[in-house]
Amino acid sequence: MIDKCSFCERDRNEVNMLISGAEGYICDECAEKAMDIVKAELQETHDFDPEILKHNKPKDIKRFIDQYVVDQDEAKKTVAVAVYNHYKRLSVKHIKRDDVDIEKSNIILIGRTGTGKTLMARTIARMLDVPFTIVDATVLTEAGYVGEDVESILTRLLQSADYDTASAEHGIVFIDEIDKIARKGDNPSITRDVSGEGVQQAILKLLEGSVVNVPPQGGRKHPEQRMIPVNTNNILFIVGGAFEGIEKNIANRLNTKVVGYGAQQQREKIDKNNLIKYVTSEDLRAYGLIPEIIGRLPVVSYLNELSKDALKRILTEPKNSLIKQYKYLFEIDDIEFSVQKEALDYIVDVAAKYKLGARGLRGICENIMTDAMFELPSNNAKKFVLTEKLAKDKLQITNLEQYRK
Ligand code: ADP
Repeated sequence: MIDKCSFCERDRNEVNMLISGAEGYICDECAEKAMDIVKAELQETHDFDPEILKHNKPKDIKRFIDQYVVDQDEAKKTVAVAVYNHYKRLSVKHIKRDDVDIEKSNIILIGRTGTGKTLMARTIARMLDVPFTIVDATVLTEAGYVGEDVESILTRLLQSADYDTASAEHGIVFIDEIDKIARKGDNPSITRDVSGEGVQQAILKLLEGSVVNVPPQGGRKHPEQRMIPVNTNNILFIVGGAFEGIEKNIANRLNTKVVGYGAQQQREKIDKNNLIKYVTSEDLRAYGLIPEIIGRLPVVSYLNELSKDALKRILTEPKNSLIKQYKYLFEIDDIEFSVQKEALDYIVDVAAKYKLGARGLRGICENIMTDAMFELPSNNAKKFVLTEKLAKDKLQITNLEQYRK
């Protein structure tokens, strides 16, 4: 008889490893799953430590974000305040005043892809040392459809908290591409986009704060699976989206609202090249988010398109900037690495010309650096200067279109 895992019944050929016991076998995958269940069962729990807030007032939070995220001051300020209030609300829950109940301040960030939305959310989680997960709204579906259930978001958060439920319950979830599940058109009764709206409804349940039964290993729910109840009441949700074309909604609103005496002067004051900075909940509704979701995302902020100057700073300034990473990598081989200013300018020009944004910087740099990183460690080289000429030579033979997202 062929040896089989006593749990999933797959045989030796279908698994990586089969561990034998007195009466049967367990495969590597089932052993891992069993480990997760044991962890979840025996886990010590960690509530949020209010002491953290003493050293992290909104200004400190912004200063911390500044170390990783370039520009985007408006968003940083708004987010710092919202995050501070969110965790303050959490810390004072035991001395809550009857007359005032601080409401949850989930955040929505609007801005083109690659402007730093995810980075900002991730940086805050790092600073507060809380569990963090990222999900893409487009892979979520209503229960019963092909795709991931909304509960899978919480599975991932639990996993990132190493199954410490109390810790997951004050974690941060970043939901990206929320604009992609917006209802098409502005008239709910005629153009009901059922799939998008269904997912919005499902996400709403999480945003509102409720106890959700979460399958610890994700996947579809089935009756015999053990569930972990997770309360989403204190989870901070940050959602992001590009909302391409929302400027039209903003312009419409600004045009219709500014009427009467002085309207002309007010209109003239509007910065028409950067309408995104006037974005409000109303524009999000017009774009197709359901009002209930908008109600649960009271903090609205935006991220600017990155200028060339910002791109250049991204290359060198953040704590783990690309250039600092290369420096470190070479340092391990005792090679002193430096970059000419003109080379940085050239890289940024290329990123801007091909509209690659911050995301493209890495691909460009890898292309320029790969040969050097291949050769130099075996060459006994002590120094490597990245010049504009070298950057140009390397990039001339590269198809840059590939880095466009
Ligand atoms: P988004 O979520 O807005 O699509 P990301 O935050 O994922 O964009 O950014 C992609 C990458 O580009 C980041 O990992 C980071 O390296 C870089 N980046 C983008 N914006 C910034 C910024 N403002 N400051 C520093 N790095 C940035």
